[in-house]
Amino acid sequence: MTSTAPLIVVSGPSGVGKSTVVAEVLRQYPDIWLSVSVTTRDPRPGETDGVEYFFASDHEFDQLITHDGLLEWAQFAGNRYGTPRAAIDEHRDRGQPVLLEIEVQGARQVRQAVPDATLIFIAPPSFEVLESRLVGRGTEDPQARAARLEAAQAEMAAAREFDHVLVNADVQGCASALIDSAGLSGNR
Ligand code: 5GP
Repeated sequence: MTSTAPLIVVSGPSGVGKSTVVAEVLRQYPDIWLSVSVTTRDPRPGETDGVEYFFASDHEFDQLITHDGLLEWAQFAGNRYGTPRAAIDEHRDRGQPVLLEIEVQGARQVRQAVPDATLIFIAPPSFEVLESRLVGRGTEDPQARAARLEAAQAEMAAAREFDHVLVNADVQGCASALIDSAGLSGNR
């Protein structure tokens, strides 16, 4: 018998709309706790330390790795991203479902570390849609966007490793499918 609450990992290429779908899931299920990752990338305008991410220097990130403070971490498009371990355990032990929104290499590490985690992949309706979403949101310069699109090719190939693959054609539909796939329908 396991006493811990579910761990749900949501992954998929940059620009697929993961954050929007996750925000809708949290709106419907406020009991779910969304992990706040640590990253070495610079904050975007409007991002606040401790809210979207904990923004860290390379040295601080190294320290977290050395002290085994991260459940998983990965290099993505020139920056490092990681999931703080302690907060995940605290929330799960308290009975609160935990959701991670991370890229594919990190999802693989979670699969190894937490075999009962549910891994959900969000795919775009097509690669062209993904490209136009990334251009449209305008958060990256052309070089950073190219790095993300290159990463997206590799990430799409990893979809079959996940427990569930959901196509994000519309936010509401994808959020509902995610809730069903994660077995959370009873948590409303
Ligand atoms: P962004 O820079 O657009 O916020 O995030 C870039 C990518 O890193 C996204 O695919 C996002 O899901 C992923 N990411 C965010 N936090 C983490 C994390 O803690 N670990 C890993 N492996 N990926 C993360």
